[in-house]
Amino acid sequence: MVTIEEALQIITDQKVKPKNEIRNLSACAGFSLSEAISAPFDMPSFDNSAMDGYALCGISKEYHIVGEVAAGDTGQFKLKEGEAVRIFTGAKVPKNTTAVMMQEKTRVTGNKLFLEQEPKKGQSIRKKGEELKKKQVVFEKGYTITPAGIGMIGSLGIDKVEVFKKPVINLITTGNELVKPGKPKLEGQIYESNSYALAAACENYGFTCMDKIQIEDDLEVIKTGITASLETADVLILSGGISVGDYDFVKQALEENGVEEQFYKVFQKPGKPLYFGRKEDKFVFALPGNPASSLSCFYIYVLPLLFQLSGSKKAGLERYSFSVSHDYGNRSNRPSFLKAKITNGKVEILNGQGSSMIQSMALGNALVFLEAETPVKKGDTVECFLIS
Ligand code: AMP
Ligand code: MG
Repeated sequence: MVTIEEALQIITDQKVKPKNEIRNLSACAGFSLSEAISAPFDMPSFDNSAMDGYALCGISKEYHIVGEVAAGDTGQFKLKEGEAVRIFTGAKVPKNTTAVMMQEKTRVTGNKLFLEQEPKKGQSIRKKGEELKKKQVVFEKGYTITPAGIGMIGSLGIDKVEVFKKPVINLITTGNELVKPGKPKLEGQIYESNSYALAAACENYGFTCMDKIQIEDDLEVIKTGITASLETADVLILSGGISVGDYDFVKQALEENGVEEQFYKVFQKPGKPLYFGRKEDKFVFALPGNPASSLSCFYIYVLPLLFQLSGSKKAGLERYSFSVSHDYGNRSNRPSFLKAKITNGKVEILNGQGSSMIQSMALGNALVFLEAETPVKKGDTVECFLIS
């Protein structure tokens, strides 16, 4: 048995070798850069107008309109003192432009332009290089590409991006009692829901479960399932059969597959019988079968490894402190991850904390971490793991 900190440390300390790939700009959201991106040119690359209006030469309230420049015009216009051109947002400003005046503050008679007030030098001009200078690092290696990141990279003219590959994740659920949703079930059987929840949790954080199989509590069948699954997986996630019951064969099946235990059992609630193992560069998590335990363990332990393997700098769920909205008489003799809901800057620890209870987790958005036997009072600050 290890502590939560020890378990997390063992995961963090794994030596991993993320692989690279080149992806199209349109297909790299959520991937992490395997090399930094630098600006190939100044951004913006030319002085341009921030407004629809007039580009002016000199400081005055009256100008002579001598032409027009629209966005995309590539010519080189040159102004003389007292001259103005009609200009549109994003258009390259003519040479010698002192400022741009928005059209709402102008009046035109024939080719005469009158301003309400004199312009300020540089007004409404987006200067070349004001956002980024050529060769400046835009994103560091390990940056996880967001939609805005895609926009930024595209604006640099880059259409192929070097990123870390995402790990291949396979899922095996075990249990004789399990029936797939949509099928009739007999008294004594239950619906298999963990594979759906775990696959959805993977998707939520940008990962995909490639292969999902469900097998019975039979040592030989589990062994064969693990062997087959490990052929393609970077990370194999098993659910159920890892506790101490007579039908819990997963640990033995992993051992007989040459998987080396990194830890087994964590002093926590829920999810005590959590197993983490490794075979060469492949990783195995065996999660307890109780739905809330398996999902909590995924969020707290599996997710950090998935981020590591995908070259991300993210360490796992984001953690923030919030004050509790009510007293909570925590008598658990183990450190706990409690299903909770953050609203309006306060966190509520929800009813329905049983390991098998998933409704509270579905209605919540966080896990509150509490040390063993530490009741909390309304207004106390607690550590929260945010679930998105
Ligand atoms: P186990 O970890 O196999 O001892 O299972 C613990 C509890 O979780 C039992 O009540 C199982 O019926 C339930 N359980 C196991 N696997 C699943 C699953 N895939 N979906 C829903 N419940 C499960
Ligand atoms: Mg079982």
